[in-house]
Amino acid sequence: MSIRVENLIKTYGKQTALDNISFRTQSNHIIGFLGPNGAGKSTTMKTLTGILPIESGECWINDINVKKDPIQAKRNIGYLPENNPLYLEMYVSEMLQYQAELYGLKNTKKRIQEVISQTGLTLEKHKKIKQLSKGYRQRVGLACAIIHDPQVLILDEPTTGLDPNQIIEIRQLIKELSKNKTVLLSTHLMQEVEAICDEIIVIHQGKIKEQFLLHEKDSKY
Ligand code: ADP
Ligand code: ADP
Repeated sequence: MSIRVENLIKTYGKQTALDNISFRTQSNHIIGFLGPNGAGKSTTMKTLTGILPIESGECWINDINVKKDPIQAKRNIGYLPENNPLYLEMYVSEMLQYQAELYGLKNTKKRIQEVISQTGLTLEKHKKIKQLSKGYRQRVGLACAIIHDPQVLILDEPTTGLDPNQIIEIRQLIKELSKNKTVLLSTHLMQEVEAICDEIIVIHQGKIKEQFLLHEKDSKY
């Protein structure tokens, strides 16, 4: 269940966003992808999820080559984009139904109930998304990301814009949801990495600067 990136290059016109990056994560870790704004975090994540085409380089999700087998790769990935684009007029349960249908899931009722309970949305499921606080909207975003039970989660700045209590809650939830999953989580805060990550990859100006383990996963529980 690792994520592997080799010699990825991405340019937007004259702007080099990813300048030949390579890394490989361990399985079942939460990996903090740390770097300031503009470092290339979103671009890397959008490449892994297949949203951006690969111009040069290769990526693998659980040994599935993203360029050669994008559909299979997508089945293994849950993605929470930075701006968490939810349909505000939809009810929570409706949003999840929609997401489940996108993945062609069967027996969606049971699965939706499971993720609603896992993400702490039981009391919110009959509310419209526009009625929810930003913290609860992030829960819905996470519920959408895990609906198809992916082995890899890609979370783009999942706590940015939340208040301190919401940050604590969302970090705790990410930790709970990450059991038996590999999670790549981008952030510009070292505190966030220290709070929940097992491993850190530092990116700056489109280059990987450092990668190291913070602690072994087993010692965490
Ligand atoms: P991060 O997620 O770390 O903030 P991004 O991957 O969004 O970084 O951006 C990396 C670089 O690529 C930045 O210089 C950013 O301005 C640029 N960039 C990102 N998206 C586009 C785009 N659609 N068009 C042009 N430049 C872009
Ligand atoms: P972030 O890096 O904070 O996640 P994004 O890269 O997702 O932000 O930027 C938001 C939107 O603006 C995206 O559609 C992105 O492609 C676009 N964008 C980002 N930087 C630039 C840029 N320098 N020129 C043009 N579009 C950009």
